[in-house]
Amino acid sequence: MKIHHLNCGTLSPKYPRLRSIVYCLLVETDDGPVLVDTGFGLQDYKKPSPMMDGFMRLMGVPRKVEETAVYQVKSLGYDPQDLKHIVLTHLHLDHAGGLRDFSQANVHLFKGELDSATQPRTLLERGCDSAHWTHDPKWVFYDQVDGKWLGFPRIDILEGISPQMHLIPLPGHTRGHCGVAVASDQGWIFNCGDAASPFHKEVDIHGYPEAQQSLNFLPGGLSHRFCGPHVPKLRQLIQEHGDEVNVFSSHDIYSFEKNLSSA
Ligand SMILES: [Zn+2]
Repeated sequence: MKIHHLNCGTLSPKYPRLRSIVYCLLVETDDGPVLVDTGFGLQDYKKPSPMMDGFMRLMGVPRKVEETAVYQVKSLGYDPQDLKHIVLTHLHLDHAGGLRDFSQANVHLFKGELDSATQPRTLLERGCDSAHWTHDPKWVFYDQVDGKWLGFPRIDILEGISPQMHLIPLPGHTRGHCGVAVASDQGWIFNCGDAASPFHKEVDIHGYPEAQQSLNFLPGGLSHRFCGPHVPKLRQLIQEHGDEVNVFSSHDIYSFEKNLSSA
């Protein structure tokens, strides 16, 4: 059972000058490959909506087809049509762009997230592109917490499928925003989405354990505003359970490079 770490969209804005990624996972399960977040999709590059085009210009997205999830799924030897499940942290345009490339897939997400995308209450919640779901995906909504996972509320998803996966509600960035925890042979992998560190500064890790630093780039006030209130608890998770869980965020290029080299 392998978990592939994928960059499904390089971000390299000029102001501020940063380099980042959209961190997705392809999880090999006993029910076929499962994608966690999709990054940008083919249509975003071929025929972007004005909003997406503006976002990609601002963020310096190179628009490489080779970075799309569908291209990488094929490169890993899978037929994209065989991908039955996508799990989403949230519906922002840099996370859900590839949904149309897997129109047959069930799309698993926290129920409040579609409400947040279709009836936005904050500026951040407006960061979705409804073109990404005009194909009417097979949504699978979850709204009930099933228990605890390392101190966080836990929603069981894809039940009966191995490895075990959970949505971990981390509201704040958007109302329905979640992290995704996946059991791997080496312990848990936890993509905490946009609940921490939108960018990784290239960088100074002096004085901090690497992962904590990567989850803590934005100053406190800004972090709370953009990511929600979870950074202290995520840091505590790393301190208390760092040997059993690998925590990273959706735009954490530092962890991505580290995880790729140890994969
Ligand atoms: Zn987001």
